[in-house]
Amino acid sequence: MTHPPALRYVSTRGAAPTLDFAGVLLAGLADDGGLYVPEAWPAFAPDLIERVRSMSYVELATEVLTPYVVPSIDADTLANLLADAYATFDAPDVVPLVPLWARLWLAELFHGPTLAFKDIALQPVGRLFDEVLSADDRHITIVGATSGDTGSAAIEAVRDRDHIEIFMFHPAGRVSDVQRRQMTTVMSDNVHNIAIDGTFDDCQDLVKALFADTSFRQRRNLSAVNSINWARVMCQVVYYVWSAGQLCGPGGPAAGQTASFSVPTGNFGNVFAGWVAARCGLPVERLVVGSNRNDILARWLSGGTLDLEAVHPTLSPSMDIQVSSNQERLLFELWGRNGARVAESMATLRSTGHLSFDAGVMADVRERFDGARLDDDETLGIVTEVYDRLGMLVDPHTAVGIGAAQRCDVPGDGPVVCLATAHPAKFPDAVASATGVHPALPERLGDLFDRPERYVELPNDLGIVRDHIDATGR
Ligand SMILES: *Cc1c(COP(=O)(O)O)cnc(C)c1O
Repeated sequence: MTHPPALRYVSTRGAAPTLDFAGVLLAGLADDGGLYVPEAWPAFAPDLIERVRSMSYVELATEVLTPYVVPSIDADTLANLLADAYATFDAPDVVPLVPLWARLWLAELFHGPTLAFKDIALQPVGRLFDEVLSADDRHITIVGATSGDTGSAAIEAVRDRDHIEIFMFHPAGRVSDVQRRQMTTVMSDNVHNIAIDGTFDDCQDLVKALFADTSFRQRRNLSAVNSINWARVMCQVVYYVWSAGQLCGPGGPAAGQTASFSVPTGNFGNVFAGWVAARCGLPVERLVVGSNRNDILARWLSGGTLDLEAVHPTLSPSMDIQVSSNQERLLFELWGRNGARVAESMATLRSTGHLSFDAGVMADVRERFDGARLDDDETLGIVTEVYDRLGMLVDPHTAVGIGAAQRCDVPGDGPVVCLATAHPAKFPDAVASATGVHPALPERLGDLFDRPERYVELPNDLGIVRDHIDATGR
């Protein structure tokens, strides 16, 4: 039996060293400011879609992800690590598929420890970090800032990992009680929560200042687990194959048909994973990009230009984003993997706030992608509609995906899978205002308000924060 050559990774800006998986995992962003992508796309086995219904989620994930991680991590180690990661989910099949109405289905991505889809990638990625670091007994310190939604996913990802220490800053008194408690009730020795007397921007500025302090950065081996990390994107490819296989594989409710997906989109990581699945051989009809009022991508798909605007706060805060950083990976492909062109275009977009695309490129894009935008009222309208029709509660992000699927005229008659990215109890106020029903936390978090909390409150002062990390870090 021959082994395929190990996959290497290249930067979308073409001027950074080529790395293996371990290198890409630890680097996050490439040296030239670009994002790493595989040098070549590994094809799925031709019969994969037919086998999905007889596989567990972990078996499927192992098969899909192995080509991306060997030889940094071998297939058996990967399989064990994925089994451990997805054992933290409270749905036995990890990503359940639930029918809505007509062609619409929900893929529930929110059964992980923090009730949002970030867990699907971050649970394996925390373990992948630990695995790669332990190979040569290295230790890193992760520092991050959160406005509430993403801090807990990062904390849950690395809790109890031997080679990782995490310090998470949140603005004191400015995150919800549920959000704070999801972070501060984690009692692991390597988890440190700091409430900063200031705003979310102050927290982010502290993180930037710590990274800019070279001696501190080197002393503590500072790192981040940000959403541009290739390892996070690759883990998301799996549930596209899973969903299509469950529905369209032999014996499935839409056997022999071709699935489409509707994706509530912020940084474009999730929907780009759908593009990767299609690129590697999964039959996919359309990828629908759902936007909230921050609709740069929906405007791009209809008008062929990217135009930056100020960020507007909405009921779907995880999608309140000005520049969707993972879109760069798609642009790299659209422009024939011309890194210099990507670098130049990104610089133009940053400096002028505008980038236009020629008609040929947009025609290619529209063969695969469609997009729609929902404002907050329209989003709440979908939450109400789902409740009225099915008695089911959906969160505002998921509602954007469902609404976008309804607004776009998806060709064919195959199933349209709407990705449910957060549990309704994660955004209880919006859900209650649309339905009159206050969504209950799932059982695993039922005692969240009885658990002890642990965090320190510090002033917005770089010296004090730095000293605290030096004094308390292992
Ligand atoms: C992060 C997030 C999104 C956006 O995903 P991207 O990969 O950034 O496009 C959507 N919904 C929820 C609940 C999220 O946490």
